[in-house]
Amino acid sequence: HGDSRAADRRVDSVCPYCGVGCQLTYQVKDDAILAVEGRDGPSNRNRLCVKGRFGFDYPRHAARLTMPLIRKPGVAKALDPDFDPANPSSHFREASWDEALELAAKGLVDLKTTHGPAALAGFGSAKCTNEEAWLFQKLVRTGFGSNHVDHCTRLCHASSVAALMECIGSGAVTASFLQALEADVVVLIGCNPAVNHPVAATFFKQAAKQGTRIVILDPRGQALDAYAHRSLRFTPGGDVALLNAMLNVIVTEDLVDHDYVDAHTEGFAALAEHVRELTPEVMAPSCGVDPQAIREVARLYATAERAMIFWGMGISQHVHGTDNARCLISLALACGHTGRPGTGLHPLRGQNNVQGASDAGLIPMVLPDYQPVGDAQLRAAFEELWNTPLDETPGLTVVEIMDAIRDGVIRGMYILGENPAMSDPDLEHARAALGQLEHLVVQDLFVTETAQFADVVLPASAWPEKDGTVTNTNRQVQLGRQAVPLPGQARPDWWIIQEIARRFGLGWDYAHPREVFAEMKHGMVSLDHITWERLEREGSVTYPCPADDAPGWDVVFGDAFPTASGKARFSPTVPLPPDEPIDGDYPTVLTTGRQLEHWHTGAMTRRARVLDDLEPEAVASLAPGELRRLKLVPGEPVTIVTRRGRITLRTRVDPGMTEGMVFVPFCYAEAAANLLTNPALDPYGKIPEFKYAACRLSPGDGP
Ligand code: SF4
Repeated sequence: HGDSRAADRRVDSVCPYCGVGCQLTYQVKDDAILAVEGRDGPSNRNRLCVKGRFGFDYPRHAARLTMPLIRKPGVAKALDPDFDPANPSSHFREASWDEALELAAKGLVDLKTTHGPAALAGFGSAKCTNEEAWLFQKLVRTGFGSNHVDHCTRLCHASSVAALMECIGSGAVTASFLQALEADVVVLIGCNPAVNHPVAATFFKQAAKQGTRIVILDPRGQALDAYAHRSLRFTPGGDVALLNAMLNVIVTEDLVDHDYVDAHTEGFAALAEHVRELTPEVMAPSCGVDPQAIREVARLYATAERAMIFWGMGISQHVHGTDNARCLISLALACGHTGRPGTGLHPLRGQNNVQGASDAGLIPMVLPDYQPVGDAQLRAAFEELWNTPLDETPGLTVVEIMDAIRDGVIRGMYILGENPAMSDPDLEHARAALGQLEHLVVQDLFVTETAQFADVVLPASAWPEKDGTVTNTNRQVQLGRQAVPLPGQARPDWWIIQEIARRFGLGWDYAHPREVFAEMKHGMVSLDHITWERLEREGSVTYPCPADDAPGWDVVFGDAFPTASGKARFSPTVPLPPDEPIDGDYPTVLTTGRQLEHWHTGAMTRRARVLDDLEPEAVASLAPGELRRLKLVPGEPVTIVTRRGRITLRTRVDPGMTEGMVFVPFCYAEAAANLLTNPALDPYGKIPEFKYAACRLSPGDGP
């Protein structure tokens, strides 16, 4: 990244990678980013991880899109292993913006005219700004005419949000992760912050050094185990059993905070009755944890003065993901561990703006600020704001849209910044669906795997090239600033969305994202007392915020919950097996996720030189005993086969892995983990079971 002392400009912004939302300063010289340094933001206090420090050369990668592209006649809509994104002329020709926009919009408009609004769908992105997310969902709802709009929240925390909305009336965190510093006990379950939320992990370490007792519950060991007071490994998929057993201990040993339960909750008696027989001894065979250890951890959490629960996708990405989150909420409610400093429920959000994109309405069943589309009164407010009638039917979710393409219902799509040809489960199915679309418009930085299926590819803006707001996992709305110019003919995403909208006959005339933000404030009470100008001055404001000159609330729901009664609800759960349990043919559990150095499908980080040098190729992480069983040494290849596909990749020894399990990151197209994953959905959050698929392993290229 060169010599920062040579910089001629410094531009304050926010990291574009994970939901921690670290504030940073770009060192810019001759309109190029030379270096990046952390600054004193509320979620990072000058800290950055390796992605935030070294992940900013991707916008100038040789494969960066700088011109609109149109598919050449006769080129098959399929992934071509020989396609070179840096030289797309084999499949696409360059076009002017006018020609590309006309073709992009005409294909969508024609399908709507012929087949009706339900023939179109859109995927927005949690990598885009709040303003871009708002505009994209507004285009789908007012231009396409349906609610078929979704984004990658469906693949990360949709089940957490479903449970939180059901039980406490709000899908966001009840307290920031900084509150861990105030807690006596912190439970980390189904998350690996040192890898996925690295700067948040530094605060957990700091808390541990100050005396906070960290409890880690996970099937896999992790770096933070070194800081943990207790670390329990449970059987993959055994989380609902483990959490019900903890609830049983709290109920039967009367560790309940009855004053809190009486004042702030409903349904406790039913929960207590439900868990009465689910003792640690009864649940131990399902969760694989020693009953005495379950009792000790339950007592530790329940008797703490202040305790918090953090969770990640190990909780949410299951067919019982919503049940998992319901259990965690029940634990917090039963013990009175919400609404005070050092207490709370915190699903660690994944993408940099998954909170903000969800708040802005990039979800098929709710309008901005989680207003259900089926509620006539709430819908009427947006119909008045946007001066157009809106569809009352909830739209389809990410995986459901892929199924609807295969069924011939969805015929055209506009995909902004998402890469379902890599991120969806059961990729053969998803890729076949993309190939079946009659018209596909993709807006992105590169010709991604998904863009290879497109009729029109529109060159978009990278994060350091645009202004906009994002909302991190702590509910902190933050301002990102343009640091460098757009290359070639690439354009800001809000501008491109507006040009498509105009071709749908919508009279949009925004001149800058701040005008979009001003409109958002008319539809989102969550943004009350937060203005663009205030963000320019302060850089970050937490919502909800009580006044123009007051800080937002770091901890919420001390007095009441945003439910009809003001009380939270317990929601009992029944332990269920994974959708695809292991068996004699497929005896090993496959689990997938991210690596520290790479971000999601790798479109950005695999084009960042330092990050790609650190982790250049796909690896399967296995326990030492598993490698011995396979007669492999680390580095030798293994083949992983599921009922949906097979991949071959190098092995890596990981003492944190449990025998009978394999972990594969999903960012490598050449060994795409999602060729293997199970598309079975949680019935409430509609999230796929990425964390559990039955597989078999064999050495080398394998049978
Ligand atoms: Fe960026 Fe997340 Fe790393 Fe912070 S912790 S620098 S937000 S990737």
